Amino acid sequence: MNTALDNVLNKASFDKSDLVYLLSLEGEDEQQLFEKAYEIKAKYIGKKTYFRGLIEFSNICSKNCYYCGIRRSTKSVDRYELSDEEVMGAVKFAMNHNWGSIVIQAGERSNKAFTDRITQLLKKIKNTYAENPPGITLSLGEQSEEVFQEWFDAGAHRYLLRIESSTKSLYEKIHPVDAVHSFDYRLENLKRLQKLNYQTGTGVMVGMPFQTLEHLADDLIFMRDFDIDMCGMGPYIEHSETPLYEHRHQLMPTEARFRLTLRMIAILRIMMKDINIASATALQAIHPQGREMALKAGANVIMPNLTPVKYHENYHLYKNKPTVNEETDIYIQDLIKNIHAAGDSVGHGEWGDPKHYFARQSKNSI
Ligand code: SAH
Ligand code: SF4
Repeated sequence: MNTALDNVLNKASFDKSDLVYLLSLEGEDEQQLFEKAYEIKAKYIGKKTYFRGLIEFSNICSKNCYYCGIRRSTKSVDRYELSDEEVMGAVKFAMNHNWGSIVIQAGERSNKAFTDRITQLLKKIKNTYAENPPGITLSLGEQSEEVFQEWFDAGAHRYLLRIESSTKSLYEKIHPVDAVHSFDYRLENLKRLQKLNYQTGTGVMVGMPFQTLEHLADDLIFMRDFDIDMCGMGPYIEHSETPLYEHRHQLMPTEARFRLTLRMIAILRIMMKDINIASATALQAIHPQGREMALKAGANVIMPNLTPVKYHENYHLYKNKPTVNEETDIYIQDLIKNIHAAGDSVGHGEWGDPKHYFARQSKNSI
């Protein structure tokens, strides 16, 4: 065991230089970091993984983020929106398998027809399962306070909105610089969500062009200072039809991005002991068992994809996105087997809300 490393790991609080050091660990030292994170997870939230059934509701998007394969300007994707039946079919699968929660994700749109449709779907889900409703997370981009409130009232209680990078200058290199892609507006949206009492989740892409370990250290500090309840972080994976693709030569190998993401997860778990940390699908795009490996590094949420398979090819945010049909009993049994092999049980029949949220609520009410 590396005792110098152990001393850092046992500090009450990490400063930026500690974080950069931890982010650079390799080999046995990296393993020691993962073990510490898993120990913290076991102690504070238990060795338990929660499933959220992921429904990729639509790939229609009004934005043009430079990294994303379904950005407005991508011509090669057929744009789709799921029918009520398709959404309810996916929810039913999650409920039949006794998962506590679902996630509804889509490209960003703020027109009223879209926001009304989401409200109506939320109500339908809550009414259909009135006895035992699923927890509902939304990941639908930036919206007005009124819309966030309307969705909250209709039954959503968690929201994922990644900051993508907490460094404004880097954010502006990976987005067009205009009013709808503004860094300040993204931050304002995150604050809105927190104010409206959503369980608020954010995260970043790891291994992007122009991104340094110092940026990532600042991202971790941002998440701690913002007091997030949930985090979803995944490796950046280039997509050939996006503007960032031209910077692919400066990227580290995908395996290195994968490991750096695991270190980000592990460090965040040590810093924020009782939040929920999702094991992102992008991890699985690099390593077939990538999501399960993240559980060993401190993650505690997996979001199996319940989108009907025929739409998968049109929801490629990045290349090599797995197109496996996860909506089958055999696939799920296998996944559960892998989770057990990693040492976790599955939180069946529970919403699996982040403990941090309740601790934050009671702290704020004092
Ligand atoms: N439109 C919503 C939700 C869909 S995109 C939103 O933007 O919040 C969900 C996440 O996919 C984004 O936050 C981004 O971090 C991730 N993503 C997009 N393109 C990616 C890429 N090329 N590699 C890895 N992750 C990507
Ligand atoms: Fe649209 Fe989200 Fe992709 Fe940006 S990241 S282009 S908002 S789907």
